[in-house]
Amino acid sequence: VSKSPILLESKTIAGEKGTATERSFVMIKPDGVSRQLVGKIISRFEERGYKLVAIKSLTPSPALAKEHYSDLSARPFYGGLVKYITSGTPVVAMVWEGKDVIKQGRRIVGATNPLDAHPGSIRGQYSVSVGRNLIHASDAFDSATKEIGLWFAPEELSEYEVGQISKPVM
Ligand code: ADP
Repeated sequence: VSKSPILLESKTIAGEKGTATERSFVMIKPDGVSRQLVGKIISRFEERGYKLVAIKSLTPSPALAKEHYSDLSARPFYGGLVKYITSGTPVVAMVWEGKDVIKQGRRIVGATNPLDAHPGSIRGQYSVSVGRNLIHASDAFDSATKEIGLWFAPEELSEYEVGQISKPVM
């Protein structure tokens, strides 16, 4: 196992695997934004008890979209997928934190093909087409590390306590 500073820093970005600090990269794709499902999708993660540590809305550059989906570059739908993600309707990029958030996030999102997605999952409830399945969530700790590092600068990730009601100033 390498102990290079880069690897150590990456590990910090994705939290610590299997603990309450584990982090996943979750992205509402353009179809989720255009269908105005952003609030409902965010609620699934909030209500499950996960903590939002970063969020931004943007239209990714082709370079960013290609790198994000680089594992799929040989697949026939890769070009169309990149084109769609970069079309101009924004995505909502997020980092969620909490126990088993990577595995649980995949369950909340549901199977890639909505035909196979559990009806209680986001894709199972709201989508019917694999090419318009609303949302992305990291599928493993290594991909979470890569994706969080790709989409966010370390200073964009917040550290705070959940479950505390702000005290009134007066
Ligand atoms: P997931 O998003 O569930 O991790 P993959 O990494 O296999 O799934 O694929 C990435 C995305 O590529 C999918 O969410 C979907 O938007 C798109 N995709 C996958 N398979 C197909 C397909 N057969 N036709 C069109 N788009 C696809």
